[in-house]
Amino acid sequence: MFKEILQKEKEFFLNFKNYDNHINDIFIKEKITKQDFLKLLFNEDDLILEKMALESKIITDKFFGKTILLYAPLYISNYCENECVYCGFSALNRELKRKKLKLEEIEKEMIILKEKSFNTILLLTGDDRINSDIDYIAEAIKIAKKYFSEILIEIYALTYEEYKYLVELGLTGLTIYQETYDEKLYDKLHLAGPKKNFNFRLEAPDRAAKAGIKEINIGCLLGLNKNAVFDVYLTAIHADYLLRKYPDIEISISYPRIQPAEAKIKIENFVSDRNFLRYITATRIFLQRVGLNVSTREKEIIRDNLIGLGITKMSAGSKTTVGGYHLNTKDKGQFEISDKRSVEEIIEVIIKKGYRPEFTNWVKI
Ligand code: SF4
Repeated sequence: MFKEILQKEKEFFLNFKNYDNHINDIFIKEKITKQDFLKLLFNEDDLILEKMALESKIITDKFFGKTILLYAPLYISNYCENECVYCGFSALNRELKRKKLKLEEIEKEMIILKEKSFNTILLLTGDDRINSDIDYIAEAIKIAKKYFSEILIEIYALTYEEYKYLVELGLTGLTIYQETYDEKLYDKLHLAGPKKNFNFRLEAPDRAAKAGIKEINIGCLLGLNKNAVFDVYLTAIHADYLLRKYPDIEISISYPRIQPAEAKIKIENFVSDRNFLRYITATRIFLQRVGLNVSTREKEIIRDNLIGLGITKMSAGSKTTVGGYHLNTKDKGQFEISDKRSVEEIIEVIIKKGYRPEFTNWVKI
């Protein structure tokens, strides 16, 4: 299991001595080492960053072609029993109007997304095993199966049996972020609720993989940890472990950046645009076959510039409120959307950049 690897990798990270010498040698290697990856993550030279961007582009085009997969998030419930200090859906947020879509409303939202050409959907809830129980999630998947080829969930961590049950109903993918790989910090950020169990969450991708899921997306929330490189490094190591252990499963990474405006806590280390680009391109050079995902949490200019520099998946035309696609609601979403452009506008940008927008990786049978 990844828990033992995590321990060793933490020690490796803490003992790493960052000597910048021979950094240019990295660019002539077929496959770079963990040490090389760390050197790239720590490097602050803008010329090296330019080289990283170029190398990242070459690798991405080689392994993924000139395509960007577009998907839509669909929030079906915002009930949450966890107290994560950084999230708008937290149980700490007593003012938030809690809402859960009825099955017919879920279908209405899905029809709207299907009409916008989406074929990949991400179903989200807060963590609440009573208000969004497993049968409710199962019913949502059954409806989604009528319209979409790829159905992913971003909900609470499940048991092996629960993942298996959902996979049998048509679930194809799991998104689950560890948020931070620093266990002590994790404990401080998650005040109460089942998510406080660091290890149960950490091992969720393994349970889902064993249950037969086809794609897994992991990530860390940048801005939580003063030492952002630590979390980027361990996210990539986690992805590398999953890629090796489950070669038939598509593994992706997201590096969502918490925005200062949305945070309820003081952001110790807001990750700059330059560092954000550095983390994405370094990850691409280290893990050539991993998918890299960017959401509408990022600004238009950032998202546009990342096309062709390592990113393979993007959300588009997103709403982060429950029922946001069919209701004209003023409710607060899980996070502020920065890129509010329509799907058509995003498609236009992708095409202008010489890439092809895709709506699915495979066809429904
Ligand atoms: S991050 Fe997830 S579990 Fe935590 S408060 Fe937000 S919705 Fe709930």
